[in-house]
Amino acid sequence: ISNIRFKTKIVVIGAGQAGLSAAYHLKRSGMKIGRDFIVLDDAPGPGGAWQFRWPSLTLSTVNKIHDLPGMSFSDSLIANEPTVQANLAVPHYFDLYEQKFDLQVFRPQRVERVTMSHDRFHMDATSVRLSAAGIINATGTWQNPYIPYYPGAALFEGEQLHTRDFKSADRFIGKHVVIIGGGISAIQLLDEISRVTSTTWVTRTPPVFQNGPFDDAAGHHAVAMVENRVRNGLPPLSVVSVTGLPYSPEVQDMERRGVLNRLPMFTSITPTGVKWDDGSEIQADCLVWNTGFKSALQHLQEILPVESTGGIRMAGRLATMVESNPRIHLVGYGPSASTIGANRAGAAAAMELRKTLGLI
Ligand code: FAD
Repeated sequence: ISNIRFKTKIVVIGAGQAGLSAAYHLKRSGMKIGRDFIVLDDAPGPGGAWQFRWPSLTLSTVNKIHDLPGMSFSDSLIANEPTVQANLAVPHYFDLYEQKFDLQVFRPQRVERVTMSHDRFHMDATSVRLSAAGIINATGTWQNPYIPYYPGAALFEGEQLHTRDFKSADRFIGKHVVIIGGGISAIQLLDEISRVTSTTWVTRTPPVFQNGPFDDAAGHHAVAMVENRVRNGLPPLSVVSVTGLPYSPEVQDMERRGVLNRLPMFTSITPTGVKWDDGSEIQADCLVWNTGFKSALQHLQEILPVESTGGIRMAGRLATMVESNPRIHLVGYGPSASTIGANRAGAAAAMELRKTLGLI
């Protein structure tokens, strides 16, 4: 860390969908970027976590990417091509967005640790030190992959990967792969890997496939349920996981290929495979955990009061405000962990934090 110090009103940490939305609304309110507020991001370029998604994830295989406020995704040149890689199209869109609204993002600047003294936040980033009166944290989940504990995991002699480590199916050729998880990522990786090698699919509960478009009512219900949890200080559940599994042509093809024969979750891991309580066992070379992510909040641990349940009690219009310290907003957290939720959260947080700081 150099001795470069910035003193500002608000620091936005993270420039994915949530951070850019917050920055847009702060700027639109008349605050000057670089002086009144600063946006930091630790990634090498624009795009938030989208720049790290696996190459075969295309615009036709993502759920849906909602527009950032003020600019349509379809205005970015390559967005209309369904076969284009999401890890190219979204960063391209975010890049154009940052340019259009002149949202300068300091990058790569990783915020390692935030402390509070004399009513101000102090943070060390990669090459700068900052002090601010308020924080909008928008660090997403990609950097905090979750793998549940199963007995024997440490003794497994094969390879264990998480969704975020996946690049291409080719590396699995000739191996037997156990795909773990019942979400969209699990299905997509199962599809790709089962085309080149043998697989076993395990999920905790039987998967439910859905014909037709995603159910908006179910989506609203899921968001309300997660919002209720965080308002009560409980850890959030994933919002995107409840949109259901599309019964797509790819899934129908997997059914025909016989790779959708799902088994219940195993109960332990052996050095050479996985095992169930009834004594049955499968030999495996790789375990691919598609078991989700948790919020990446490690840098805030000294200033975030965590409840005994492991959650953070949230308040505010869209539950972005930390109840015990309204100068901290978490966007893209809990009910706002989707592209549309992140948009709305950015707007709510920008408005409420300005109010709290007496800027309106
Ligand atoms: P991110 O895009 O993760 O942005 C966070 C940013 O913060 C990153 O640039 C990161 O580098 C930076 N950062 C993290 N920690 C620090 C730090 N300490 N200091 C500085 N910078 C930091 N949602 C949908 O709505 N539709 C979809 O189709 C969809 N598909 C998905 C597919 C996958 C495989 C996954 C994992 C998620 C998907 N989601 C989808 C959920 C998606 O992650 C969110 O909707 C949304 O993109 C998250 O935006 P965000 O701004 O909260 O986080």
